[in-house]
Amino acid sequence: METAGRPLLPSEILIEAQRDVPALGLATVYRNLKQLTDAGEIQLVEWPGELPRYELADHKHHHHFRCHGCSRVFDVHACPGDMQKLAPRGFTVDGHELTLYGLCSDCKRPAARKPAAAKRAARPAAAPSHRKHRATANA
Ligand SMILES: [Zn+2]
Ligand SMILES: [Zn+2]
Ligand SMILES: [Zn+2]
Repeated sequence: METAGRPLLPSEILIEAQRDVPALGLATVYRNLKQLTDAGEIQLVEWPGELPRYELADHKHHHHFRCHGCSRVFDVHACPGDMQKLAPRGFTVDGHELTLYGLCSDCKRPAARKPAAAKRAARPAAAPSHRKHRATANA
């Protein structure tokens, strides 16, 4: 979780952890997450209707970007700063939360994401005999 740089779902944490400990189960991940949350070392990042994600609790003030394409959430370290001017007259702002929504760089360029699959798909088109046979059958 230290290296991910974004809040992770328990299922994502499991995939990462299984690289070191292949036999690890989701129940163990949940147990460890609960212990770390109780100890104040990690915190939940939640949106309505979604499973909670987890990130380190000692992060300084930051925001999140949620991708529509892959549902991953990324840390955003830019901040628009003082929101006092948005508050109604006479109100005092002492904090804010901000979530950006959109597409991450991976999801914006789906062709660049799977170059191997694109190459495989191009191969059958380069077999003219097969295509000719099918065209005859359809006619
Ligand atoms: Zn994405
Ligand atoms: Zn975060
Ligand atoms: Zn901020």
